[in-house]
Amino acid sequence: MNTISFSDGSIKTPGKIICVGRNYAKHIEEMQSERTSDPVLFLKPNSALHPIDKPLPLFRDVGAIHHEIELAVCIGKTASNITEADAAEYIAGYGLALDLTLRDMQAKAKQGGLPWAVAKGFDHACPISPFVPAAQIPDPQQLNLVLKINGEERQHGTTAHMLFQIPKLLAYASRFFTFEDGDLLLTGTPAGVGPLIPGDNIEAHIDQIGTFTTQCI
Ligand code: MG
Repeated sequence: MNTISFSDGSIKTPGKIICVGRNYAKHIEEMQSERTSDPVLFLKPNSALHPIDKPLPLFRDVGAIHHEIELAVCIGKTASNITEADAAEYIAGYGLALDLTLRDMQAKAKQGGLPWAVAKGFDHACPISPFVPAAQIPDPQQLNLVLKINGEERQHGTTAHMLFQIPKLLAYASRFFTFEDGDLLLTGTPAGVGPLIPGDNIEAHIDQIGTFTTQCI
């Protein structure tokens, strides 16, 4: 199983990665999607995790692969049916994730009313940074996210603009999925998603978490 590391030296093994779609208004617009009354959830397996500083292998033959920079929340203890008021006590820390998406394959799945499992869950679909303990980030809803490709800014947003904020996401997701120590929740991406090609240099930044670079191969 893949693991994630914390800046204090601790290690966790995410059993599941719960991801949120359509959580920033401008990204919903660019995808020509509709807002939903509840968060849209999907899953990535542990095998999708990939250290963000390692070269990133891309598929060559299944259409476009898109970058989506996202704040990742790491759960610290077993929980289900948590309340928004209590949500913070279940958070172990925060990291930076890329929710890589096989966009052409996802578009086909959407058209056919079929699952996104392959389009979102393939190997290396979740490059992940080291995590920062929650106590060091008192307000996770005030963080800038910036993604540059080959030095050019593609995505720039703030977690303040999430349509469903973190406590709401944790309360909603924990109604359906029991959280276990190490599980991750990816909180959605701001606008500016686009394709990656071999040779691209990715620079991804979230305030108080760090700036990480990698090369697509
Ligand atoms: Mg996403």
